[in-house]
Amino acid sequence: MLSKTMAKAISQQITKEFYSGYLYLSMSSYFENQTLPGFATWMRVQAQEESCHAMIFLKYLNEQGHQADLGPIDAPPKEFSSALDVFKKTIEHEKLVTKSIYNLMEIAVGEKDFATQRFLDWFINEQVEEEATANTLIGKLERIKNSSEGLFMLDNELKARVFNLPAPLAARA
Ligand code: MG
Repeated sequence: MLSKTMAKAISQQITKEFYSGYLYLSMSSYFENQTLPGFATWMRVQAQEESCHAMIFLKYLNEQGHQADLGPIDAPPKEFSSALDVFKKTIEHEKLVTKSIYNLMEIAVGEKDFATQRFLDWFINEQVEEEATANTLIGKLERIKNSSEGLFMLDNELKARVFNLPAPLAARA
């Protein structure tokens, strides 16, 4: 049982997750253009994960007997000044997403909607990881500063990232 208020907020979250994917795709394209293929791969995987987040919310809505009400997706920025700038924008964005998921949880708690609270737990944990990962990369990039050798090594490290289907989507496949 899912209230109309909760369903509407989840529909809005789907749009936000797709925007996240769109943003990271734009960042991936920036990196590709800067000849940083490892960074580009990392961001492309990040974008794929965001589309999966949207799909998890979408499937949950349908499971709960609602139809998604999908809104327009804004165009993401395309001007970035450096890899550090990209990850600073990433952390800013992830903090907004965390707030948005906390807001969903507040609605679920207020409505004593226990199923949605359990459902949201995965996203709350996921956001802790997203923020930690972005912070780690910011730390590394700050240490690297203007060393092209350092950037090259980090690019090689990030190249190793592979896409894994997020657990809640695998469970709903
Ligand atoms: Mg997400």
